[in-house]
Amino acid sequence: MSPTVPERQLREPAPLRPTPPVDVAALQRLLDGPAFATRDRVRTILSSPEFGYRAELSDERYREVVLQWLRKLTAEGFGALAVPQEFGGGGDPRGFLAAFETLAFHDLSLTIKFGVQFGLFQSSILLLGTRWHHERFLRATSSGELLGGFAMSELGHGSNVRDLETTATYDAAKREFVIHTPAGSAHKEWIGNAAVHGRMMTVFAQLIVGGTNHGVHALLVPIRDADGKPCPGVRIGDTGHKEGLNGVDNGRIWFDQVRVPREHLLNRFGDVSAEGIYSSPIDNPAKRFFTMIGTLVGGRITIGLSALSAVKSALTIAIRYGNRRRQFGEPGQPEIALLDYRTHQRRLLPALATSIVLDIALSRMVDRFIEMKSGDTRLVEGLAAGLKAYTTWFAQQAITDARECCGGQGFLAVNRIAVLRRDIDVWTTFEGDNTVLMQLLAKGLLTGYKQEFAEVGVIRLFARRATASLRAHNPITTRRDDEDHLRDPAAQLALLRYREDRLLDAAARRLRARAKKDDPTHAMIDVQDHLMHLATAHVERESFEGVQEEIERAGPSLRPLLELLRDTFWAGCVERDMGWYMMSGAVETPKAKAIRYLVNKCIQELRPVAEEITAAFGIPEAVLAAPIASDPLPTAGNRPS
Ligand SMILES: Cc1cc2nc3c(=O)[nH]c(=O)nc-3n(C[C@H](O)[C@H](O)[C@H](O)COP(=O)(O)OP(=O)(O)OC[C@H]3O[C@@H](n4cnc5c(N)ncnc54)[C@H](O)[C@@H]3O)c2cc1C
Repeated sequence: MSPTVPERQLREPAPLRPTPPVDVAALQRLLDGPAFATRDRVRTILSSPEFGYRAELSDERYREVVLQWLRKLTAEGFGALAVPQEFGGGGDPRGFLAAFETLAFHDLSLTIKFGVQFGLFQSSILLLGTRWHHERFLRATSSGELLGGFAMSELGHGSNVRDLETTATYDAAKREFVIHTPAGSAHKEWIGNAAVHGRMMTVFAQLIVGGTNHGVHALLVPIRDADGKPCPGVRIGDTGHKEGLNGVDNGRIWFDQVRVPREHLLNRFGDVSAEGIYSSPIDNPAKRFFTMIGTLVGGRITIGLSALSAVKSALTIAIRYGNRRRQFGEPGQPEIALLDYRTHQRRLLPALATSIVLDIALSRMVDRFIEMKSGDTRLVEGLAAGLKAYTTWFAQQAITDARECCGGQGFLAVNRIAVLRRDIDVWTTFEGDNTVLMQLLAKGLLTGYKQEFAEVGVIRLFARRATASLRAHNPITTRRDDEDHLRDPAAQLALLRYREDRLLDAAARRLRARAKKDDPTHAMIDVQDHLMHLATAHVERESFEGVQEEIERAGPSLRPLLELLRDTFWAGCVERDMGWYMMSGAVETPKAKAIRYLVNKCIQELRPVAEEITAAFGIPEAVLAAPIASDPLPTAGNRPS
C-alpha cells in the first residue's frame, strides 16, 4: 500500500543538540556589565530586613513606607550617583541606570518614586538647566532634602506635549514668570510626588514673552512650603487609588497666576533676559522643542531596563515553580514537572531568551546614551523609543504568562507575580505611550531613508535593494530547511534585514503616493499599521545584531549558550511574523515548518538549564521572596502510586 500524502511528508526530525553548559558567574558578569559594584550595593541594601515587603497596606501607609525606603537609598548616596562631582555627586550616570534597574527587582512603587525624584525631577534640572540651577538645587535633590516631580502631562494633553495649555508669561516689570492653568483641561495630571511629598515641580508650559509664544519650556515652580502647605495660588489634588503603583503619590496641580523669579526658567535651550528678550541657541522652534524633549531620553531607557527586571523576577519565580510543581502523568509513575510540558516551555523559555537578548540590546543603548554628545540625541532617540515600547509590551505579556504558568499560586499577592503584573501594566503608557513611540521610531527611519536616498542616489539605492531582494527570493534559500542554515547567524540576519528593508521601502512608497492626495498628517495616519510593523522589525533586527556581537566577543564558556538564546529569539520572532514572511515570498512552506520546529527544539535544549540561567540575574532571595520559588516547594508532591 502506498503511503498517504501526509505520511510521505513526515521526515525524521534532526536530533536535539546537546544542551550547552551555563557558566552562571560569566553570564551574570555579562548581564551586570561595568556597573556591577553598584548593582551589588543595591542588592545588599534591598536584602536588609527594613526593605521586607509589607502586605495589605492602605495607600496612605504604603506611600509612607516607600518614602522611608527612598530616604534610606538617598542616605546611601544613590540619589547623587548621576550628579556631576562638582555639585557633590558621583558623576556616574551609568551607575545610576544600573541602580535603577536593580531596584526594579524589588517593589515597583519604590522604583518609580526613585525615578520621579532622580530620573525625572533631578535630571530635568541637570539637563535642561544651567549652572545657576545646578549650584542651587542639585545637592538638595540628591540628598532628598528637596523632593520634587516632573509636571508635564495635563488632563487634555498627554502624548501631545507640544500643545500643552499651561502658560508661563514673562512680567518684565517684576522680572518674574506667571504660571497659569488657563482652562479646565489644562491642569497637570498624574504627577508623581505631587499628592503628598513633593515641594517643587519642573513645570512644562508655553513660554510667552512680550505677547509671543516661544513654545513649551520648563520652569522650576515651588508647590509646597516647608510645612507642606500648598504655596499661594497652587491647588493640589490626589489622583487616588490606581490599578497599581499605589505606593506613589500621584497628584493633580492647578496654578492660579503663580509667580516665580525669572531665573527659575530652565534655560539651557531658551532664555529670557531681564528686559524680556527671548534667545535660544536653536533658532528653529520645532528643532528646539524636539532637542529639549530628546534630552530627556534617559527616562525612557530606565523604563525599559526596569521592565526587564520585573520580567526577570517573574520568570525566575515561574521557572522555579515549573521545575518543582508536578501534575498528571502515567499511572504508577511520578507526576510530570510542569516545565516538562511543551506548552509550559513555549510560554516561559522563549521569554527567557528574549529577556537576555533585550538585556544586551538595552546595555548597548546605555553605552550609546553615555557616549551621546551633549544635545545630539538623534542616534539614540528613535531606538530608545522603540526599545522602550518593545520591552514593556514584552514585559506585560511575559509576566501575564508567568502568572498563568503558576496557576492559582500565581494569583496570590505573597507570590509577587500578580503584584508585578498590576504594577507593570502602565509601563506601556508613561514615559511615552508605546504606540506613539513606535511611530516616532518609524518616522526617524523614514527620515534616514530620505537622507540615504539623497546621498546614495535613487538608482544605486534601488540597485542595492533589488540585489538584496533577489537574494531573499532565491528559490533555494526560501525553501531551505536544514538546521545548519536555520542556525547560521548570517542567514538569520539576512531574513530580519530583508523584512525591515522591505517594510521601509513600502512605507516610503505608500507615504509618497498618499502625500499627493492628502496632507502629511493624514497620509501618515493612513500607514500607521505599516509603521508599527516597521518599528518592530527594526527593534528585532537591532537586538539580534546586539546579541550576535556579544557572541563574537564571548569566551568559550558562554558562547554556545548565547548562540542557543539567539536561535530561540530569532526563531520566535520569525515564527510570530510568519504570515508576512510567507506573503512576501521570503519563506516557503518547508522552511516555515522547519522554523516552527526549531522553536520547539531550542526550548527543549534550554529546558534543563532554564533555572540555572535565571540564577545569573542575581536576584537576592530576600528580594525575590515568593514562597512558590522556594526549595523545597511546600505544595509539590508525587501522586500516590
Ligand atoms: C501611573 C502614572 C504615572 C504618571 N506619572 C507622570 C508624571 O510623573 N509626570 C507626567 O508629566 N506625566 C505622568 N504620567 C502621564 C503619562 O505620561 C501619560 O499618561 C502618557 O503620556 C499618555 O498620555 P495620556 O494618558 O493623555 O494618553 P493619550 O495621549 O490620550 O493616549 C490615549 C490613547 O490614544 C493613543 N494615541 C494618542 N495619540 C496617538 C497618535 N498620534 N496615533 C495613534 N494613537 C494615538 C495612544 O496610543 C493611547 O492608546 C503618568 C501616568 C500614569 C498612568
